[in-house]
Amino acid sequence: GALPEHLQETIRRRNEVLGPGYTLIYREPVEFVSGHGAHLVDREGNDYLDAYNNVPCVGHAHPRVVEAVSRQMAAVNTNTRYVQEALVGYAERLLATFPGGLSKVSLACSGSEANDLAMRVARFHTGGEGIIVTRWAYHGLTREVASFSPSLGPGSPLGPNVRLIDPPDPRLVAPGSTLAEHMRLQVRGAIDDLERHGYRLAALVADCAYSSDGIFTDPVGYMQAVVEEVHAAGGLYIADEVQSGFARLGDSMWGFSRHDVLPDIVTMGKPMGNGLPISGVVFRPEVAEEFGRSVRYFNTFAGSSVPVVAAAAVLDVFDEENVQQRVVENGTALRAGLEELTQASPYVAEVRGSGLYIGVEVVKDPETLAPDRARAEDIINDLRDRRVLISGTAKGAHVLKIRPPLAFSSADVARFLEAFAEVAKVRL
Ligand code: PMP
Repeated sequence: GALPEHLQETIRRRNEVLGPGYTLIYREPVEFVSGHGAHLVDREGNDYLDAYNNVPCVGHAHPRVVEAVSRQMAAVNTNTRYVQEALVGYAERLLATFPGGLSKVSLACSGSEANDLAMRVARFHTGGEGIIVTRWAYHGLTREVASFSPSLGPGSPLGPNVRLIDPPDPRLVAPGSTLAEHMRLQVRGAIDDLERHGYRLAALVADCAYSSDGIFTDPVGYMQAVVEEVHAAGGLYIADEVQSGFARLGDSMWGFSRHDVLPDIVTMGKPMGNGLPISGVVFRPEVAEEFGRSVRYFNTFAGSSVPVVAAAAVLDVFDEENVQQRVVENGTALRAGLEELTQASPYVAEVRGSGLYIGVEVVKDPETLAPDRARAEDIINDLRDRRVLISGTAKGAHVLKIRPPLAFSSADVARFLEAFAEVAKVRL
């Protein structure tokens, strides 16, 4: 159908005033005026099922977060140059979710800033400049972080100090080898090539969900081999938990724990404050000692009172509403339903993912695995027309990205699968 007039008009005005680079999602863009749980409501009062947004992790407009933020905003919002008991308390609670050794936290305002700081620390500590990331990774938007975010494409060139490795896709493993061995060899090759070009390794940065690569959460267990190679070359392992953190993958609070490895630095953001801008860098104190002595890091808004109480409220809800357990249950049901609905389709190569982060790989042919971007886009827009929101990922934009608020309920799973079944009947 045609877009409502008010939307057309807002979009026209938007194009007049917003800078370059802004894109809208869906052929028929949508504007929301309220939300609750995993639901969004448009101006006409239509209810949409949000199966895409990870930032409002405990649910849109969660009363606990709203109340904490409103109260703090009405009282005071101070920065980290003043003593803030709430900040200290939050840092203690957050660090308690990490294994021993990862015992310090710095705050920032976005995932990009967190990764930017992490890389500055890694460069300082190692004296190296070399960086290894996966082939279609996204880590952020600052000049430094963009230089190791290949998914930004050719308009945003990679640094000469950056090397790419495969994401952990078991289908790339040669017969007779293992995923761990495949990943180890990739990393070894990247380190050798960096050294040949005069770069010592600073860090390997890996998104624990490999979101932009196409979502590769399983099998786990190959990271030990990877981290061994990185450490042997004098580099650090930076776990980017901006996507995978805060129980997104269900069976653990942090994606790296599923591999039984200890990163040197962990970065997080997006869901941390349920929409308030707060991100974090958690690290082993040894790696940041020299940096801390030599560099002043003051980030005006980072760790100020309002985002910190939002982040604390998120952890409260995790405890009170047993969020992680629900992610496991509803994620398992969602994935099982998707597998059932797609198993007979020649256009679905794989349903993969963990917890409430699921990818459905849409291909032209199950043998060649050639990406079918057009079909994926049709599915995404058909679902949107049924008021169910998802998007796509991977280089070919052909992997359906299903990543709802963690507040997704069993009723939401049922509604999602019902809509997906209708779309699948036509498209898959
Ligand atoms: N790392 C990963 C894995 C991300 O997905 C993103 C955002 N998509 C970032 C870092 C950057 O976070 P932000 O947009 O908050 O700067």
